[in-house]
Amino acid sequence: MSNRSIDSKNVPLLDIVGENRPLHDEMLEAIREVFETGRFLYGPAVTELENAIAKLSGAKHAIGCASGSDALLLALLAMDIGPGDEVIVPSFTFFATASAVERVGAKIVFVDIDPATFNLDPAKVKAAITSNTKAVIPVHLFGRSADMTALTRVAGEVGIQVIEDAAQAIGAAHHDRGVGAWGDIGCFSFYPTKNLGGCGDGGMMTTSSDELAARIRLFAAHGMNPRYVHRVVGINSRLDTIQAAALCVKMKHLESWTNSRRQNAAKYHELFADAGLTSNITLPADDTDGTHVWNQFTIRVPNARRDALRTHLAEQSIASEIYYPIPLHQQECFRHIDCEPGSLVESERAAAEVLSLPVFPELTIEEQQRVVRGIGSFFAARKVSAA
Ligand SMILES: *Cc1c(COP(=O)(O)O)cnc(C)c1O
Repeated sequence: MSNRSIDSKNVPLLDIVGENRPLHDEMLEAIREVFETGRFLYGPAVTELENAIAKLSGAKHAIGCASGSDALLLALLAMDIGPGDEVIVPSFTFFATASAVERVGAKIVFVDIDPATFNLDPAKVKAAITSNTKAVIPVHLFGRSADMTALTRVAGEVGIQVIEDAAQAIGAAHHDRGVGAWGDIGCFSFYPTKNLGGCGDGGMMTTSSDELAARIRLFAAHGMNPRYVHRVVGINSRLDTIQAAALCVKMKHLESWTNSRRQNAAKYHELFADAGLTSNITLPADDTDGTHVWNQFTIRVPNARRDALRTHLAEQSIASEIYYPIPLHQQECFRHIDCEPGSLVESERAAAEVLSLPVFPELTIEEQQRVVRGIGSFFAARKVSAA
């Protein structure tokens, strides 16, 4: 049976309170134990979670930090990427993917996405590589792995590093290898709305390189080693033991939540097909080359009807969200980054067409039916008025 926080008439986009409620006692007990030991930083729960994430991804090491954004920043610092270097990133992603590159003083190179997957287009990545390119950051957007076969091949040919932004894709895989174990470093986030959400901020990096693991730990602790000796300038970024303790409890349920998300996505495909709506909207395809973990179920609404559909759904108390309305190359703070005109058309088109629907684990079939009916009534009304 589902656990829902409120028995309401709304269909919410997610239900964090409902997800956590059955685990409250266990999580509070785990946090109480942290109080008993007083090890609020570097406590045993941090190591336990690091080991669990390493195992899940298949990478040799996992290292906790304060957020997914810090994970990206630390990955670049550990790779010694800075001024004069170029880093390839998608424009259609969350801000942090690109801001980390700007923070270390390297040059952002925006590359367009494959419209079918919303992920970096490997052929376009290849075309964007110059002698200054040091790394590429594929994002596994909405929980679907980027084409890591092609991307690691392209990167390997010219010897650039790969940093996976797996913030939305914990537990996802490309073929039989987990995300975070394909690139040189993988970056995860425990922001409360991610598939493994904490009680606040938290992040993690994965790597199979002993050298990179050591450098990540060094840069996450002020670059200090041994005590009060600094050869590099690091930052202070740690995963709190309290967060790790709560996350260890939730970690045991991740697989079942992922399965629920996958079932919900499959159910939408069935319901939208039955309702005859698949020509009005484009559904996100499942990943036949891997495991999609559906952090978002993001449809495309063509012909400039997306915003009207969203309003129509809101009138029926059905939540939806636009991830992301403005591609990063059009953000004011990135105006200085020159992009070839027309080189990011798919990113711009996606920003104009996408709409994310509720797909969280506790979503009921009745609620999914309401979402589909809500979209159906929008297009039915349009058909009549157009005739
Ligand atoms: C959430 C997210 C981040 C940042 O994670 P935080 O933990 O919120 O700092 C980075 N990249 C992507 C794609 C994200 O979705």
